[in-house]
Amino acid sequence: MSDCIFCKIVKGELPLAKLYEDDDILAFLDIGPIHKGHALVIPKEHHETILDIPDDLLKKQIVIVKKLTKAIKTAVKADGITIGQSNYKHGGQVVLHIHFHIMPRFKDDGLKLWPQGKYEDGEMDTYKKKIIEKLE
Ligand code: AMP
Ligand code: ZN
Repeated sequence: MSDCIFCKIVKGELPLAKLYEDDDILAFLDIGPIHKGHALVIPKEHHETILDIPDDLLKKQIVIVKKLTKAIKTAVKADGITIGQSNYKHGGQVVLHIHFHIMPRFKDDGLKLWPQGKYEDGEMDTYKKKIIEKLE
């Protein structure tokens, strides 16, 4: 897509700190890291969300997420790694080209990614059924 930042990176129209590349997948450092070493893994082909990307390509993408996770964890001596993937504007997705974040984490880094709610009695069962009904 012509106005997509990540498509521009794929086409070489914007600079990147490249970590990995093959025929289908590209990985590079995020310019606004949660911690240094924070990386993004994208398909070269433009797909907006996890619901748009073909399964075969998504599988290739997640295998590279794992490969990079191993390298980043060792390289920056991270105590943990959080994998993030947002979909749609209201899911926190800013760049509408599917990407996985690989975020190094450190003991006592104080980051809390989301608050935890709770279910009322019986509500878990209701939600469980609602979701299972929609599985395809
Ligand atoms: P999201 O909010 O999940 O859509 O994340 C988009 C991410 O892309 C943010 O963490 C940005 O810092 C990162 N980002 C935006 N533009 C660039 C760029 N030109 N190079 C590297 N990372 C970028
Ligand atoms: Zn794109």
